[in-house]
Amino acid sequence: PSALREVLLEVPNVHWDDIGGLEDVKQQLREAVEWPLKYPRAFERLGIDPPKGILLYGPPGTGKTLLAKAVATESEANFIAIRGPEVLSKWVGETEKRIREIFRKARQAAPTVIFIDEIDAIAPARGSHEGGRYLDTLINQLLTEMDGIDKNSGVVVIGATNRPDIIDPALLRPGRFDRLILVPAPDEKARLEILKVHTRRVPLAGDVDLKDIAKRTQGYSGADLEALVREAALTALRRIVRSIPGAEPGEEEFLEKLKVTRRDFEEA
Ligand code: ATP
Repeated sequence: PSALREVLLEVPNVHWDDIGGLEDVKQQLREAVEWPLKYPRAFERLGIDPPKGILLYGPPGTGKTLLAKAVATESEANFIAIRGPEVLSKWVGETEKRIREIFRKARQAAPTVIFIDEIDAIAPARGSHEGGRYLDTLINQLLTEMDGIDKNSGVVVIGATNRPDIIDPALLRPGRFDRLILVPAPDEKARLEILKVHTRRVPLAGDVDLKDIAKRTQGYSGADLEALVREAALTALRRIVRSIPGAEPGEEEFLEKLKVTRRDFEEA
């Protein structure tokens, strides 16, 4: 019963247009996950098996979690998220039960996307790691559950990692995580799209040039760009609080002045 309670089903609410750039990746996920979950009969008719497992790999903060949630939202699927390191720290002694429970719950609530973030923590190559027997059992159980997913059960597993090189090759065999999709760091064009997403609801002053910011943020991930926008907005708030002594930041007059300027971005 304790395991049952802790498997958290989410109804995600992230849409494709909340993700900047990554058009290729979105299209691949549409075809590999959304289509089979939405149109299982077409796949049946065509005699092709949809993938059971997809591995998203790439540098940190580039939108892997966001993509998994978006594909679940757009497929009208439920979402169960687990994190590799958490499995190791909290599940000792009841891992098998938990994994079984997750897949059971997923089938019951199908269509369901099971998302395993930082999967490298639980699935490094067998025999090569400190966890020894315990990790081996865990990987075996994960493989058993994946092998047991029925073609048309409406359950798909998406793993995410920054370290695809250390993943147990047994996980990458056909019928398991057999689609590998690179989620790359954003280029200038993608950075502009990401900045647009994160400034959608931010009042920008006329002098803010998102194109210029995109150009000058080489090496920033999506997460870094989100942090930049947040910091620029807070800089604006601080600046305006300082400039109108005694004003209440909640007053209409104050709120009207609240715009994020180019300088706020520079400072951030
Ligand atoms: P990690 O490898 O660290 O788990 P991740 O690749 O899963 O990272 P996310 O958790 O999806 O990255 O992204 C972190 C945050 O960064 C998101 O909540 C989002 O706000 C922002 N972000 C990252 N990539 C994008 C993107 N392409 N478009 C819009 N926002 C993004």
